[in-house]
Amino acid sequence: MPTQSNPNNKRKVLFILSVDTEEEFDWNGDFPQNTCNVENVQQIPKFQAFCESLGVRPTYLVDYPVANDIKAANILKNIAQTKNAEIGAHLHPWCNPPMEGANGERESHVVNLAPNLVRAKLQSLTSTIKRNIEVTPTVFRTGRWGTNEAVINITRGEGYDIDSSVYPYYINEDFSCENTPDKPYWPNLSSPNLAGPKCDIFELPITAGFNRSNFPFWDKVHRLLSSKFMDPLRLIGFAWKTNILRKIYLCPELSTTDDMIALTEAALTSENPVIHMYIHSSSLLPGRNEYTQNNGDEKRFYTSIADVVEHLANQNDVTFCTITEARDLLLEGFAGYTAPQID
Ligand SMILES: [Zn+2]
Repeated sequence: MPTQSNPNNKRKVLFILSVDTEEEFDWNGDFPQNTCNVENVQQIPKFQAFCESLGVRPTYLVDYPVANDIKAANILKNIAQTKNAEIGAHLHPWCNPPMEGANGERESHVVNLAPNLVRAKLQSLTSTIKRNIEVTPTVFRTGRWGTNEAVINITRGEGYDIDSSVYPYYINEDFSCENTPDKPYWPNLSSPNLAGPKCDIFELPITAGFNRSNFPFWDKVHRLLSSKFMDPLRLIGFAWKTNILRKIYLCPELSTTDDMIALTEAALTSENPVIHMYIHSSSLLPGRNEYTQNNGDEKRFYTSIADVVEHLANQNDVTFCTITEARDLLLEGFAGYTAPQID
């Protein structure tokens, strides 16, 4: 059941923490297919206890190497049985059978694969989660973010009714979440970066934006300042250093506590009913990724999450929920919210 912090006429908000639960690897290196180490999953019971101490109800989006490792799968099975967390699916194409074709940066993004290959990989992932973790996942996140017409329809077809692959305001040469809504929405099934009519899959983006409310406006300003034309003036660096405009992701691996708090405040002022933080499970084991290299980093990582959650709960009436619980509350009209949709 969702858990609630102290009410008293404060702004009502949902808090989600999603964990990409996956193998450890060097994010600047190649894409290993068969040599996946999932030792970090041993840290999840400790992390789950920490989340429970804050009231947080995590959603673990599990990829193939984790689901296929009996020891790791058993840990997640035990957590799922407590009902204090949710298990979803996360597709890393490079280490999820069937493995076919090229294996480079471009193919590491699910959105760049042939639809038949995406379907086969998702079927393999889903059946492995069902068999080894004994849950039927209904929440999905692509590897390397983003979705498109083919992927969202395959996702629906494989029994998922929530997608959480949208990373607002993020774009690179291999995928784009440009112009997506930054609040939960019904995706247009022909063009899921846009809102569409009510359908059988709901989109719950992670929280990304700026240290100022009205993110779509500041995104335009940020894009202008970041353009090649403006580059010689170094305005984007100046805007960051002076705190005039910062682009921020709600992830303690990428952002400081102060920046994450500024982002959550701006998101709430922009009337976003959901604050959605994400992490990678490999950050839970020091020395296995670039963000948590030692015990000091690990401590800071936990403290940063706690500080953001406590700040949010002190200022607002927070309901802590899994992704599916958040969807259900939103569709019941949580805090008067209506998902943006276009008929
Ligand atoms: Zn991942």
